[in-house]
Amino acid sequence: MSEFMRGTRLHRRVYPLGHLALGYLLVVALARVRDWKPRFPHGLTLLILAVGTQLPDLIDKPLAYAGVLPNGRSLAHSLLIVVPVVFLGVRYLTRRGYQYEARALAVAIGSHIVGDSYLLVLRQEWRELGFLLWPVVPGLQYPGDDIAPWIRILNAGFDSPHLQFQYLLFVGAAAIWLVSVYRRRRRPVT
Ligand SMILES: [Zn+2]
Repeated sequence: MSEFMRGTRLHRRVYPLGHLALGYLLVVALARVRDWKPRFPHGLTLLILAVGTQLPDLIDKPLAYAGVLPNGRSLAHSLLIVVPVVFLGVRYLTRRGYQYEARALAVAIGSHIVGDSYLLVLRQEWRELGFLLWPVVPGLQYPGDDIAPWIRILNAGFDSPHLQFQYLLFVGAAAIWLVSVYRRRRRPVT
């Protein structure tokens, strides 16, 4: 695959900051619509959200790079695996009194899958969307799987509308988070 094709396809990826921002904004939006408390994730919930939004990539990308998985969107990106695992995890955590954390974790992982899928849906690239049903649908060979995950993140750059949109999303999420921190300091009970 040419460098141009490689670059073009890599720039369609959602990067860690984009996933984090999307997950945070989704939790805040759902909390408002469904009247969840707390309205704004903080403390342990925020930490869980941060890890949860990256979890599918933290599992699949290194394992694909090591040659254990067929590609960087397979095991932890497949709805056939993620849905039952998250369902059982949420039930387990909820029974132990961690319902806020369980909810944040489920939304965070769900937002990651949405973030990886929405462009493919908009562009009707159904073949690439097959990762949602791995291993029933065999994994594709992605152009970035032979590049170390940390190198891809460092080479993200700023030169595509999709990347710029992710940075914008992150700035928006960070602004909302800062306002929530300021409000919490003034009025600790949210
Ligand atoms: Zn991913």
